[in-house]
Amino acid sequence: MTSSAYDPANIFGKILRGEIPCHRVYEDAHTLAFMDVMPQADGHTLVVPKRPSRGLLDADPAVFAPLFATVQRVAAAAKAAFAADGVAVYQYNEAAAGQTVFHLHVHVLPRHEGAAPRRHAGGMADPAVLAAHAERIRAALDA
Ligand code: 5GP
Repeated sequence: MTSSAYDPANIFGKILRGEIPCHRVYEDAHTLAFMDVMPQADGHTLVVPKRPSRGLLDADPAVFAPLFATVQRVAAAAKAAFAADGVAVYQYNEAAAGQTVFHLHVHVLPRHEGAAPRRHAGGMADPAVLAAHAERIRAALDA
């Protein structure tokens, strides 16, 4: 079995329902953006649609326009906030492809020339650092 139905008990479903906290960067009617707790680079942000799906393949196509509008906004703000040279945007579907949380999400990763990203889903970051990084991106969104 390579996939199954959406399970609302996944960690991002819990974040969306306010059952567990996150370092929020941006929210609108259709999307939420928050810091990845195991960032592969400073400013690593996740963007999720509020409408549930496991990933890209079972998503209602209607979610993609608002989702990628938020990805674009957050990518620009994270790039500016961390004075990055570029920004990587990526998304995994099913465990075989590297997915570990089964609610559709897009990674936004500021990248600097010559700096390799840290390991995917590696060590937990200091919550105070994540809070400060979220604040930097929020400030860039408002600029
Ligand atoms: P995936 O491997 O599914 O593409 O990415 C899941 C991401 O979620 C990983 O980068 C991981 O660090 C992050 N993550 C896992 N658990 C939590 C959590 O409880 N809160 C937040 N904000 N991120 C999480």
